[in-house]
Amino acid sequence: MAPLMAIFLHEADLPAGVLADGPVAVDTETLGLNPLRDRLCLLQIADGRGDEHLVRFGRDYAAPNLRAVLGDPARLKIFHFARFDLAVIAHWLGVTAAPVWCTRTASRLVRTYTDRHGLKDLAKELLGVDISKAQQSSDWGADELTEAQKDYAASDVRYLHRLKDILEVRLAREGRTELAEACFTFLPWRARLDLAGWPEVDIFAHG
Ligand code: MN
Repeated sequence: MAPLMAIFLHEADLPAGVLADGPVAVDTETLGLNPLRDRLCLLQIADGRGDEHLVRFGRDYAAPNLRAVLGDPARLKIFHFARFDLAVIAHWLGVTAAPVWCTRTASRLVRTYTDRHGLKDLAKELLGVDISKAQQSSDWGADELTEAQKDYAASDVRYLHRLKDILEVRLAREGRTELAEACFTFLPWRARLDLAGWPEVDIFAHG
């Protein structure tokens, strides 16, 4: 029998106690791609047991329960392209969502045979799952989210635990686990550089 899975929509904060212990998958939906300009509209979070929680924001970003989870140094946060989500979360919720594990960064370190590192590409190749990206560019600030938006948003955190498990094996196989861990440790700082005025600049570059 398939496990019972549900998508829960919450307003402004996560209810206390809805997540099991352990790593959580996290994603955000915003009004656009500039974290300083475009507000955080939705944050998705899942503990990997099957339920997905969507937290919707209007103007109130206090979210004490959610911030406690995101800022918990004992709880790993799994992202796909953590750099963007970390910047959004730092700017709008005022918390550094570390420690971090990023499936996109891991993919770039081990899937060197391709330049396709989107979540859709990873889910297809590593899990054989098709994720629809049709709602990606929709209006996440709308008063009412559509069922299609909610399902899309939830699917962005649904597979991250499983992808991490597979990518961890690949990183170990290629001797790149330590390199990945160092990248994950730096990611919150890369996001801070983006917010501080060094987006798309390699600060280590000579020229
Ligand atoms: Mn997303």
